[in-house]
Amino acid sequence: MKDAFYKFLNNSISRHFLTPRYLILFVSNQCWMKCGHCWFSEEWKKDNLKDDSLSFDELERLSDSVNKLLFLSITGGEAFGRDDIPEVVNLFTRDGKTQRYQIPTSGYLTSKIISNTEKILSQNPGIPFRVDVSLDGNMEIHDKIRNLKGCFSNALETIKELNKIKKKIPYFDVGVITTISNQNQEIVEEISDIVNSVHPDGEWMVNLVRGNTRDPESGKVKLENYNKAQDIINKRIKDGTFKGHSGHLSAKWLTAKNSVRRKVINDIVLDKKEGGACSAGSIAGVIYADGSVYPCEMLDISFGNLRDFDFNLSELWNTREAVELRNRIQDTRCICTQECFLSTSLLIQPQLWPQLIYERLRH
Ligand code: SF4
Ligand code: SF4
Repeated sequence: MKDAFYKFLNNSISRHFLTPRYLILFVSNQCWMKCGHCWFSEEWKKDNLKDDSLSFDELERLSDSVNKLLFLSITGGEAFGRDDIPEVVNLFTRDGKTQRYQIPTSGYLTSKIISNTEKILSQNPGIPFRVDVSLDGNMEIHDKIRNLKGCFSNALETIKELNKIKKKIPYFDVGVITTISNQNQEIVEEISDIVNSVHPDGEWMVNLVRGNTRDPESGKVKLENYNKAQDIINKRIKDGTFKGHSGHLSAKWLTAKNSVRRKVINDIVLDKKEGGACSAGSIAGVIYADGSVYPCEMLDISFGNLRDFDFNLSELWNTREAVELRNRIQDTRCICTQECFLSTSLLIQPQLWPQLIYERLRH
C-alpha cells in the first residue's frame, strides 16, 4: 500500500514538473585531490562514464530543457576547476530558472575560488548562492585523507576569504562540510573546534561516508563517533551559538532539516527506519558530465543519456523505463544515507514534518 502510494506520488511529481526540481549537475570529472572517502574514483568513472564530457554548447542546450529549479548543485570533481564556471552558472540562472544554487569545493585554489565566486555573485545579484568547503580534520588528518599536502591550510584560507564576502553580500552563504570516515572519526571534537574558530557564523554540515570509497576502509565508522557531531551541534543550538544557514528566507528551515537528517541517518544505520519513500528520480536527479542522467548518485542505473534524447530532459525523465526505475526504487524499499536525497525525501514523508517544525522552532 505504502509502496503503491509512493510510486503514484513520485511518478505524478515527475509528470507534473517534467524535469527534476533539485538537480545535482556534474560539470567536471577532474579534481585536485584523491580523497580516501570519495566514491567518485577513477575506477567508478571508468566503469560508469561512457562518453566525452558535455561541451559548453551542450550544457546550454541542457539548460534550455530544464524547467524551473528550486535548487541546483553544480559539482564535480571540482566545479571551480573550470575557468568558465561563472558562464556555466549563468546558463542555469538566467530568466529566473534557478531559485537557489550551490557549489561544493575542496577549497584548494583559494584565489581562483574567490575571484570566481565574486564574479558569479556580481553577475547574479539577489539569487541565493552558497559555497560549501570541505574540512575533514586537523592539518595532518585532512591532508592525509585528501592525499595532498597543504590542502588544509588552503581550505582554511578559502573559508576565511569566503566569509569576508558573506559579510558584504546578503544573498551569499558559506558552509563547511565534514565527512566522517574511519580516518577522522576519533577527532570529531577537535574538528568541531577548528570549524568553530574559522567559521563561527555559519552552518557545519556533517556527512557520513558513503558508497564504494577509494579507500575501502573509509566506511568503517562507529555510529557513536558520527553522533558526537550531532551532540556538539545540539549543544551549540541550545546555547544559542549555532548560526546555521543564512542568505535567504528559508535558510533556518535548512538548518532544521539538517538536524532531522542527522537523526534519520542514525536510525538508518541502526536499521530502525523502513526503506522506500525516496524522492530520487522524481523531485531530485543527477546529471553527470557525460550527459548521463541518474535518479541519484548511489544507484548505478541510468535513465539514459541526454545526447540520445536531443537534450530533451523532460522526454528522458518521463520514458517508460524511467517510470519502471522509479517503481523499482519503491518495490525494493531502497534505503541509504545520501544526505542530498534524504533532504528531498523529507518533503514527501509527512511523518517527519513535526520533527522538522520542532527543529525550526529551536533555531
Ligand atoms: S571527495 Fe571531492 S575533493 Fe575529494 S576526491 Fe572526491 S571529488 Fe575530489
Ligand atoms: S534510497 Fe538512496 S540509493 Fe535508493 S534511490 Fe534513494 S538515494 Fe538512491
